[in-house]
Amino acid sequence: MSEFKLGTRSLSELKGVHPDLVAVVKRAIVLTVQDFSVHDGIRTLAEQQRLVACGASQTLDSRHITGHAVDLVPYINGKLRWEWPPIYRIADAVRMAARENGTPLRWGGAWDVDFTDSTSSPEDLVSGYVGRRRKAGLRAFIDGPHFELPRALYP
Ligand SMILES: [Zn+2]
Repeated sequence: MSEFKLGTRSLSELKGVHPDLVAVVKRAIVLTVQDFSVHDGIRTLAEQQRLVACGASQTLDSRHITGHAVDLVPYINGKLRWEWPPIYRIADAVRMAARENGTPLRWGGAWDVDFTDSTSSPEDLVSGYVGRRRKAGLRAFIDGPHFELPRALYP
């Protein structure tokens, strides 16, 4: 078990986020082998508009605006690092936490799978998703730090 803790900034990002998702994040920080920060919880529409304008997000209808999404970014040597290997380790911990809590989650690394119920490694989920998108002639927008409560169950 890790000795990581959510910092003040992470805890304040979780304000206003759905309690089921907050519970998963709080359990994940205990289970994870890779430290992380909550980089983004609740977002205002203005913040979302800025992210879309610079290409960091693709939609104005973001689950962050309604408190149904979080971005968990690897925290390494005092810095946030958007790098896949540590992102995969965080995804492992989030999936374990979600299973324990019985909370269904969608992951930005493979948008089209039921992440909580999936059994493949996060690496394989990403390559599977990218492959399916390519086959369909579509671009794959992958967002490894992003986890959200599914719309169908959390409208
Ligand atoms: Zn996000």
